[in-house]
Amino acid sequence: MSVREEVGGTPLPEGWSAPAHQPDAFELGTTTFGERAHRTMARPFARIAIAGATDHAVALTQAKFANVDHDALRDQGRQIRAHAIANLPDYLEQWIDRAEANGTTVHFAADEAEARRIIAGICTDERIESVVKSKSMASEEVSLNSALEGAGVAVFETDLGEFVVQAMGDRPGHVIAPILHRTKDEVHELFSAMAGRDLPNEAEALTAFARAGLRHAFLTADAGISGGNFLIAETGEVLLVTNEGNGRLTTSAPRVHIALVGIEKVIPRRGDLAVLLPLLTGHGTGQQITTYVTITGGPRRDAEPDGPERTHVVLLDAGRSALLGGPFEEALHCIRCGACQNVCPVYRQVGGHAYGWVYGGPIGAVLTPLFRGQEEGGEVAQATTLCGACDDICPVRIPLHDLLLDLRRQRADTGHVPRAERLAFALWGAVWSRPVLYRASMAVNRTVLGLVGHDGAVSARLPGLRRWTEGRDLLVQRRRT
Ligand code: SF4
Repeated sequence: MSVREEVGGTPLPEGWSAPAHQPDAFELGTTTFGERAHRTMARPFARIAIAGATDHAVALTQAKFANVDHDALRDQGRQIRAHAIANLPDYLEQWIDRAEANGTTVHFAADEAEARRIIAGICTDERIESVVKSKSMASEEVSLNSALEGAGVAVFETDLGEFVVQAMGDRPGHVIAPILHRTKDEVHELFSAMAGRDLPNEAEALTAFARAGLRHAFLTADAGISGGNFLIAETGEVLLVTNEGNGRLTTSAPRVHIALVGIEKVIPRRGDLAVLLPLLTGHGTGQQITTYVTITGGPRRDAEPDGPERTHVVLLDAGRSALLGGPFEEALHCIRCGACQNVCPVYRQVGGHAYGWVYGGPIGAVLTPLFRGQEEGGEVAQATTLCGACDDICPVRIPLHDLLLDLRRQRADTGHVPRAERLAFALWGAVWSRPVLYRASMAVNRTVLGLVGHDGAVSARLPGLRRWTEGRDLLVQRRRT
């Protein structure tokens, strides 16, 4: 029995409609990190929810790897990813040969605009009027939804969190958990407005409302669009992990399947999944394995009840190949598990939107300047404490801390640091690198702060230090430590 026969006949719930188109909401280059962070921090719920959810995710990850040699597994993961990226052209070629032999049409998009053009072109050629999408960060990178909607194609995000984000005109706040920053009450309000009646404010009822409408969308869509967690070179297959089953329906129910996948997602062999899958799912959701692991290998064969009639894979470069062989190549090892976001003390306060583009947290602070350039994205590499927690948890041992430092250096070397900041650090470096001047500056500091402080601390707001002293005391240095 085919998927359509098994789940078919689901009527569209009364009042259920496609989410209205919302404009793209990237703010990189139009607002500062500070302004965006301030907005999240002004929402007390968001701060509590983000910290709570990320704590929970870290605890699950720790429990998952408690009884295995985690470091050895991470070493193996690093080796596989390093080998794949060091030989990327060869493995990509192998993957393309195998995928085409399987009947997949392979496209190559050099940048975001070309990816949008290719996918919109496929939709025109295939007479596609509606698509269902499973979660894809690559499609966020290229702002695919608005491009398709502009071409007259109705788009339904089918991951529940992504569906909420789409209907709210929002952006995902986390690689794995897109609505980490939203409340159940907000979802209740949204779905009730879509339904035209007050729905029960319970998770099960709200999920059932979305599910009924999305089920109808799956069965009537002309195409399914997905991302891909891995491209397996030896077989020409695309692997997708999901927990809601939407990835499997997206890739098997509609007559056309289109996958948009970054070129760096290639791995040599199926056997590599024995290492990479537990690392991805263990660091993403703390699971042994996700509920669904879908491997697609081309269009439906004769006598198969399910599967698309045609499959297209769009390989996205968009800045990736420029990193090969350079000092930032290791950023391409990333398997998008989101673990570095969960442990980052900055992300845990400000959430994903503060980073202004697709990716938040340490990996966002690395990828944003690399993919968007120093001019537009360089600022977010400053938004880290360099504590190294991200290095300690990364399943493929990407040295995020070193990459962030190098990006900061590059920002200074290419003249993207404001003049006042450059002067201040030049002066600070000149003074503190000379012991006599260092001691003199400490004495002046101690004397001035001693005059305005009480009990060894200044708690009043100080001109020039207002943003520091309004939230915490400034300690007066003691004469002897
Ligand atoms: S950098 Fe490492 S921890 Fe962060 S998302 Fe990528 S693989 Fe996961």
